[in-house]
Amino acid sequence: MELRKDPITRSWVITGDDVSEPVPHTGECPFCNGAQSLQVVSTLPGLDGAAWSARAVVHPHALYRIEGEPARRADGLYDRMGSVGAHEVLLENPRHDGHLWNASDAEVEQFLRLAAQRIQDLKRDSRFKYVSIFKNHGPSAGQEFEHPTSQLTATTFVPRRVLYELRAGRDYFENKERCVFCDILAQEERQQLRVLEIRGDYVAFGPYAPRVPYECWIMPRSHEASFERTGSSRVANLADLAALLRRTLKRIRSVTEAFHLVLHTSPNSQHQSGTLGYWKTLDDDYHWHIEILPIIEAKSKSYTFKEVYYSPLTSETAVQRLREAKI
Ligand SMILES: [Zn+2]
Ligand SMILES: [Zn+2]
Ligand SMILES: [Zn+2]
Repeated sequence: MELRKDPITRSWVITGDDVSEPVPHTGECPFCNGAQSLQVVSTLPGLDGAAWSARAVVHPHALYRIEGEPARRADGLYDRMGSVGAHEVLLENPRHDGHLWNASDAEVEQFLRLAAQRIQDLKRDSRFKYVSIFKNHGPSAGQEFEHPTSQLTATTFVPRRVLYELRAGRDYFENKERCVFCDILAQEERQQLRVLEIRGDYVAFGPYAPRVPYECWIMPRSHEASFERTGSSRVANLADLAALLRRTLKRIRSVTEAFHLVLHTSPNSQHQSGTLGYWKTLDDDYHWHIEILPIIEAKSKSYTFKEVYYSPLTSETAVQRLREAKI
């Protein structure tokens, strides 16, 4: 596998002809039982006498290899590099049916703590520019495992969407000396049109320009660029975040089973990059958040264009319906 950069959009893609075939399902869950073949990276202690609560393992078919240098090189006008990075599966719960929306708040909190810990750990590796955490749930979302899991990748580049956000955050800050995300939250809380729920320091709301129906973001109300700092220093707050995440997913599941979830946190500032100019004001101009993109199959199939997002439902209406959901 290798990484290639599109010279026009400047986004990296991972490509190769040596993709390993996924192992056919044998019926046995590899995360419940056959732990012998798993490479455990980190384990959080169990709650109420259980052996463990949340655990990170190396992805059985990892897209990125942890060893070596990225060896970035030119190929004429093109750029390429080796697929150096980390690819882990985060087990959210030891129970096979312990999903984020039906687990206890304490269990969800443990998962969030593990996520913060893994990001912090991988950011110590100066080869990595970014650590992503995401979850694909439901067959139409590309779910890989039956067991409740999220995935983590540490990459030698910043994913395109995050790069857009970082640049936009920096530009806004240059003009106004304020964080665009803080300003969005202030307006949302004032208008109360798209706020789904507020819990302690966290707000769940529908973005003004949704990419898909029922898109939801969760954000801290106090400015903070890095999720992992929240996860390690404001530990008491994590309980509120866990409850809000659980309740928001439960609401979304009242309209659809499948969704993508992604955590957007600051890039690795240990990585000294001369070409990316966002480091100096990064702590002031970026603001971590979780994005949840539900998949409403019938609608997205017929209406979605690849280049322009079209959501046949405004966030105001979506939030109204989600607020009324029985959870
Ligand atoms: Zn399982
Ligand atoms: Zn902010
Ligand atoms: Zn984002």
